[in-house]
Amino acid sequence: MTDRPAHHGPDGKFRIPWPLEVPDQRAGGGVLRWQMERMRTRLPPNPDPSALPLVSSNVARPRAAAGEMRITWIGHASFLLQMGGRNVLLDPHFGPRASPFRFMGPKRFVPPGVALKDLPPIDAVLLSHDHYDHLDEGSVRDLHRAFGDGIRWIAPLGHAAWLRARGITNVADVDWWDTIELPGNGGPLTVTCAPAQHWTRRTLREYNDRLWGSFALRTADGRRVYFGGDSGYFRGYEEIRRRLGPFDAVLMPIGAYDPRWFMAPAHMNPEEAVRAYVEMGGRGAFIPMHWGTFRLTDEDPLEPPVRLRAAWESADLPDADLHVLKHGETLVL
Ligand code: ZN
Ligand code: ZN
Repeated sequence: MTDRPAHHGPDGKFRIPWPLEVPDQRAGGGVLRWQMERMRTRLPPNPDPSALPLVSSNVARPRAAAGEMRITWIGHASFLLQMGGRNVLLDPHFGPRASPFRFMGPKRFVPPGVALKDLPPIDAVLLSHDHYDHLDEGSVRDLHRAFGDGIRWIAPLGHAAWLRARGITNVADVDWWDTIELPGNGGPLTVTCAPAQHWTRRTLREYNDRLWGSFALRTADGRRVYFGGDSGYFRGYEEIRRRLGPFDAVLMPIGAYDPRWFMAPAHMNPEEAVRAYVEMGGRGAFIPMHWGTFRLTDEDPLEPPVRLRAAWESADLPDADLHVLKHGETLVL
């Protein structure tokens, strides 16, 4: 017997520790099959820019008052979270593409909701995992240049070495259920890494060398936010509620789901995001993300919020709790 947690593989790599509901097709030619299918079918067109407006944000400067919470959607999985008198960035991506290359790969439909140069002072950055639509090297370098060691970088196991190689030392590598406290005037802001169903890779020779995760944040006065990171639907949301909830706001991915036979293990669809929210208690603001900024998969880029609203209605959830933010929009709670 060993004390190794189930998501730590014996080979030193990480793995999904529960059975998948839709089998993983990435091994055995799945990527090729997807690309071949894509060539044969006509994909829905990219959206007209007017369908994805950029609105001006309502960021508190330099920070929100201790009892106030402001959530600004920068785009894709990037948010500025102002809570507990702290400024926290989630999966900051300000670059033109979600790609290892400057000249190719998914291009941004909408400029960042807040430009990097217009950010208030940043106290912490949470990174959910290493994929190019979440971990953008240019943004990491620019943030480090702008705020230096004032930023505490928090990411699942394995990311610290990547950050240190870029001269960033104020780093915490966390496993699922590990907690970090960010000290501050009004008491600590508590950040806990939680499970997600996903995978990692930045270069071809890597695969699951770094862990992926979601995060729960709690202020000293008990306000709680959940950031789902990148995840397929899995049966862990009740446990997340039990251990870390209930939440005042839930930030969930709703895009990059088609084709289902290939994407389901790694990306939930809007119906599954609503199911996860219900399993997390079905209360608090629901804020969708991971749609409308980069085109990663085959669905119509404007479809996720339409399906989200329909799923929300069939689940009989209150309209007042659904907040489909525009790029740059700030929700004040
Ligand atoms: Zn990912
Ligand atoms: Zn992603």
